[in-house]
Amino acid sequence: MSLAIGIDVGGTKLLGGVVDDEGRVIARLRRETPREGGKALTHLVAELVNQLQRDVQEEISNIGLSAAGFVSADRERMLAATNIAGWTGVNLAEELEPLIGSRIIVENDANAACWGEYRYGAGRNSRNMIFFILGTGMGGALIVDGQLFRGAHGTAAEFGHMRVNANGPLCGCGARGCFEQYCAGPALMRHVEEAIAAAPERAFELLRYGDGTLEGLTGHHVSAAAQAGDRIATTAFKLTGEWLGFGLASLVVILDPDLIVLGGGVSEAGEILAAPARESLARNASFSGHSLPNIVTAQMGNDAGLVGVADLARG
Ligand SMILES: [Zn+2]
Repeated sequence: MSLAIGIDVGGTKLLGGVVDDEGRVIARLRRETPREGGKALTHLVAELVNQLQRDVQEEISNIGLSAAGFVSADRERMLAATNIAGWTGVNLAEELEPLIGSRIIVENDANAACWGEYRYGAGRNSRNMIFFILGTGMGGALIVDGQLFRGAHGTAAEFGHMRVNANGPLCGCGARGCFEQYCAGPALMRHVEEAIAAAPERAFELLRYGDGTLEGLTGHHVSAAAQAGDRIATTAFKLTGEWLGFGLASLVVILDPDLIVLGGGVSEAGEILAAPARESLARNASFSGHSLPNIVTAQMGNDAGLVGVADLARG
């Protein structure tokens, strides 16, 4: 049995696990991400790695680290850490080596989670797969012929910043009308507002899931309400799914994938999101009659990133 360690660094929490070669997490640890980031975070990663080795009483040399941002093509350096202070430009492989006694690989969080789903989750039978993380933003990753597609500079598959509307809302990346402006968490909440504006008398039921105000409503509330059949919440997911299918129509005609997997918080609504996305893809697809890939939701939840990056570290 070949064990590997995966560490998934999020904006608020660190998840670490020892993963066996069937994708099972046999030991795990969780810590809060130190706000100051930088060296404090690097040292906490090392502490987690060392503690995990003690927990399973084995020296493990295959270690992977997943984090949001652009990662260098040699998988050592964070070129730009998007939600972590003080990691931009840091060569994590070099800084961690003396602290843990091994070389690590660094991977973008969407790539890591995509690989986890591809190897052990929803994408097990796929060879050419598009993957999304629909959360605060829209992360993307791509498997081509059974390999992660990284592009020339390691930054490929940023589907969230594919532009779907020339005059759409301004995105954090500086462009207008990016895909994530229509399908990520904040877009779901904007679709809630649109649905309420169209039928204000129906808002009361939904707002009760939070503290009674629109501001007090989270994506999680909207998801729970949609699952209970709330009309406003269902409409918001339908609008989100329709945009998803619209953008996917372009990606599918370029990439011809066999499967599309939706991960991240927004995808917890399951079929409530996947069904309208499927219908919209069929309606918007170029070349009617062209065989279209299925759209499914992810299966591995919060473990996808750490399992994926541990498996990638195994090489
Ligand atoms: Zn953008």
